[in-house]
Amino acid sequence: MAGSGKFFVGGNWKCNGTKDSIKQLVSDLNSATLEPDVDVVVGPPFVYIDQVKNSLTDRIEIAAQNSWIGKGGAFTGEISAEQLKDIGCKWVILGHSERRHVIGEDDQFIGKKAAYALGQDLGVIACIGELLEEREAGKTWDNIVIAYEPVWAIGTGKVASPEQAQEVHVAVRDWLAKNVSAEVASKTRIIYGGSVNAGNSADLAKKEDIDGFLVGGASLKGSDFATIINSVT
Ligand code: PGA
Repeated sequence: MAGSGKFFVGGNWKCNGTKDSIKQLVSDLNSATLEPDVDVVVGPPFVYIDQVKNSLTDRIEIAAQNSWIGKGGAFTGEISAEQLKDIGCKWVILGHSERRHVIGEDDQFIGKKAAYALGQDLGVIACIGELLEEREAGKTWDNIVIAYEPVWAIGTGKVASPEQAQEVHVAVRDWLAKNVSAEVASKTRIIYGGSVNAGNSADLAKKEDIDGFLVGGASLKGSDFATIINSVT
């Protein structure tokens, strides 16, 4: 880790799960032994956040997978940052490639969401794709974790090599140093996502600029997710 923040592992459950499967996953996570010096966050589908909040150990924080660009109101189907806070979410995942490429969200829209969520004191896991896109994410960088997720690696089983990920993470950190400040570059956690699993996380975690992971498929199995969390070196 070249960043000065703690190792960070997020589990993005995407649109998966039922009350029963989530009950099982929570119970597996509650009984897992987790490396203490790692920030751990899971992102259940909206409808299960309350169930997870009421049953999951406080050791793990909760993220939503999306939030609205502003205050709530007449926006059918949306969930506001205020509502997320109200139910105990500390984080929100924004700009995930599935939201960009399947749902059509663009940088400007994601930037607005990020700025609003940060303004409501939510932590933002801001996902970027192949290139670092210059986008408005508000002025507050303290609460941002940047997830580098090459689109070709998400859900495909094709993980980036530790060297490939390291190279991009360095480029992102350099960009932050040049465009924001050296301090922000050092303290912003830059995490990798895309086919991370219990077998490849330890090698990735050894790389200096990989400050954690955003895990999709493998976060749905408690024991695998625990192995990934514990792969911090
Ligand atoms: P994956 O998903 O681990 O299933 O590739 C990663 C992500 O989309 O965050």
